[in-house]
Amino acid sequence: MDLIVETVDTCPFCGGALELAEDTTFVWFGCRRCMRYVKREKREIVRRFVNYRERRFNWSGMITELYQLYTRL
Ligand SMILES: [Zn+2]
Repeated sequence: MDLIVETVDTCPFCGGALELAEDTTFVWFGCRRCMRYVKREKREIVRRFVNYRERRFNWSGMITELYQLYTRL
């Protein structure tokens, strides 16, 4: 995993800050303390959350989905 940023969301399992990371293919979302991560293909995220016509990236939509995925682990 390359770029890693902390999000404002906290881990429902330990209360730590959830992280967003990326490598060449995937975006990862999860908790370093719990060592739990979910991932989505970047290609899919771009297709679903980037609106090129309006030049918008639906960041909160992406985070919401990743968070839901994470809590179902
Ligand atoms: Zn955790």
